[in-house]
Amino acid sequence: MSKNSTENKWKLWIYTNYDCHLRCSYCVAESTPEVERRAIGVETVQQLVDEALELNFCEIFFTGGEPFILDDIYEMLDYSAQRIHTTVLTTGMLLKRRRLERLKGISNGNLRLQVSLDGGRAKHHDAYRGAGTWKQTVESIKRLQENNFHVRLSTTETPANSDHLHEICELHLSLGIQEEDHFIRPLARRGFSSQGIEVSMATITPEITVNREGVFWHPLSTDEDMRVSKTVFPLSDAVKCVQEQLDIIAEGGTPRITFT
Ligand code: SF4
Repeated sequence: MSKNSTENKWKLWIYTNYDCHLRCSYCVAESTPEVERRAIGVETVQQLVDEALELNFCEIFFTGGEPFILDDIYEMLDYSAQRIHTTVLTTGMLLKRRRLERLKGISNGNLRLQVSLDGGRAKHHDAYRGAGTWKQTVESIKRLQENNFHVRLSTTETPANSDHLHEICELHLSLGIQEEDHFIRPLARRGFSSQGIEVSMATITPEITVNREGVFWHPLSTDEDMRVSKTVFPLSDAVKCVQEQLDIIAEGGTPRITFT
């Protein structure tokens, strides 16, 4: 990671909200239909995009929760995608009829939709994400492609699918989605998940992550031990803090951020 802000290649992650129409049993954000929304809001997102551009961030990712629950998500994505590569993580399942039309209205070449797909077959996906979700997800991917969206896929590797990842690749290739648009991440022991890799500042490369309550080390967790800043702005302070921690790690030390 470059320390020179003019060469910065940071990715910025924005938690738009925490509620979701699903209740995946491995959700690191502990999202369900019932949890508090904790919406970040358009104004904060626009200020974040502006500052990310000043700091030479290379891409912005919107995540949640399910971002397309929000009525103002289109305004956020429009502002971002007009200025920088923008990816929004989604189940894809809500994107039909009015929501799909609204998204089509703001789509441009900078906008990508990253759909979660954990199986080439239903049982490998539905094991953690809920019965019937694989079928709806595959239908959603096809619908988004038919409407000319750039679709990426993200897979969480779990005990249910780890021996069958090739089936997901066969499926996405059959849909015309290439390897460079398929991301696989390990299951993390955070949030609702009692299985998976341990995540900490010392073990995971930072990708600056913002929610309405502050700045965090990585999108895999917005728990307190991953907090970088108690305030969102200025984002440059959080970037400086992360860079200082990277220096400590490079010298063999343990990252530790204290708040006064
Ligand atoms: S993993 Fe994603 S889709 Fe599943 S409950 Fe969490 S936010 Fe929703």
